[in-house]
Amino acid sequence: MPIYRVVIDYDRCQGCKNCIKACVMGVLEAIDDMPYAVNPKECRGCEDCVKACPNDAIKIVYEGIA
Ligand code: SF4
Ligand code: SF4
Repeated sequence: MPIYRVVIDYDRCQGCKNCIKACVMGVLEAIDDMPYAVNPKECRGCEDCVKACPNDAIKIVYEGIA
């Protein structure tokens, strides 16, 4: 299975939660109104969260096959 790391730039993030709504895999959840990758193993690397972010604050890093 490919492994992906979700990287959120909290200096750019404004907490709009668009990324959380965009992720059908439930990778992201809000904690204190900010997004966190609470289920990173479920990430499929689709980058729907990246496309949904108005602030270019989230990126997906491919980490290899596990
Ligand atoms: S890349 Fe896809 S599966 Fe991974 S966190 Fe973003 S929306 Fe969810
Ligand atoms: S879509 Fe971007 S700005 Fe909005 S909560 Fe997610 S990372 Fe932050």
